[in-house]
Amino acid sequence: MKSYDVVDFGAPLRPSEKPTPSPHGTEVLLRTLAAGVCHSDLHIWDGWYDLGGGKKLTVKDRGLVPPLTMGHEIVGEVVALGPEATGVKLGDKRLAHPWIGCGDCAACRRGEEQLCASPRFLGVQKPGGYADHVLVPHPRYLLELGGLSPAQAAPFACSGITAFGALKRVGEAIFKEQPILVIGAGGLGLMCLALLKALGGKGAVVADIDPRKREAALAAGAIGAIDAGAADAVRQAQAAARAPIGAAIDFVGASATAKLGIDAIAKGGKYVIVGLFGGDITLSLPLLPMRAITVQGSYVGSLAEMRELLALVATGKVPPVPVDHRRLDQANAVLEELKAGRIIGRAVMTP
Ligand SMILES: [Zn+2]
Ligand SMILES: [Zn+2]
Repeated sequence: MKSYDVVDFGAPLRPSEKPTPSPHGTEVLLRTLAAGVCHSDLHIWDGWYDLGGGKKLTVKDRGLVPPLTMGHEIVGEVVALGPEATGVKLGDKRLAHPWIGCGDCAACRRGEEQLCASPRFLGVQKPGGYADHVLVPHPRYLLELGGLSPAQAAPFACSGITAFGALKRVGEAIFKEQPILVIGAGGLGLMCLALLKALGGKGAVVADIDPRKREAALAAGAIGAIDAGAADAVRQAQAAARAPIGAAIDFVGASATAKLGIDAIAKGGKYVIVGLFGGDITLSLPLLPMRAITVQGSYVGSLAEMRELLALVATGKVPPVPVDHRRLDQANAVLEELKAGRIIGRAVMTP
């Protein structure tokens, strides 16, 4: 099999030929049909995250040692099954839920494998979709495509579940009754708007520093769009919402956007942070109890949430994200373009 691997952090991915694995036990071998390129791949490729205050978290601290085959938005065709793999058959086209845990720890046992302390995420700790074949440990992680093409379905494995998971942390009790603030109108922000609408949400005001992205958000149905960089962005967001803002979802995750989100929400509101831009904030502690707000991090979603998301997609209520079709051998160019902000929609590669 062929893959494109991170061998040295920050250096071009290197093509590699190795024996195609044969599945054991419950494992299933997929032939890759589509592999989405995610912004978080850039962090793995770079090798570090900005923790603020000049501190860095390296991906080696996350236990990632090269060579690494990235790619966690994988759709493939079942081409081989281990002797104990049941529930899928040869030729089935499936989306791989990549957020796989150890299966033994408390988080895994309560169904939140994405929070496992010893994760086996495809495209992170385990080889992923920047390859022509991917091994999946169990058929339960293989989901139907919800009527979409492989390239359209692939982004739901991360971009889709990340936005869906963030809305789940906000909770229906809030988003069906109150407007929310969505910070960042890139692919995730637009996905969040689409899912919010499909779930019967009250609506969202979007904050972004880029006027073109604000236009895109309004076209996608945002009830307002404000400049996240404006000095009075909080006041503008609250005015555009025309009702107390129940929650803010921050797809950027920078110091300034965190402050905007936390300041904009109403009493009892939630600030849910998803983006990994980096930085830090200072919180006035008495205001946490007085405003009874929740500050919560959200990381992708559970297998059950992925099933729920694909069931929602299958209803046809979620418009597919625009896809920029690429070949796997263009992986380095795609990463460079993503880093430079030149990709529109989601880049999805095919071997
Ligand atoms: Zn991702
Ligand atoms: Zn676990």
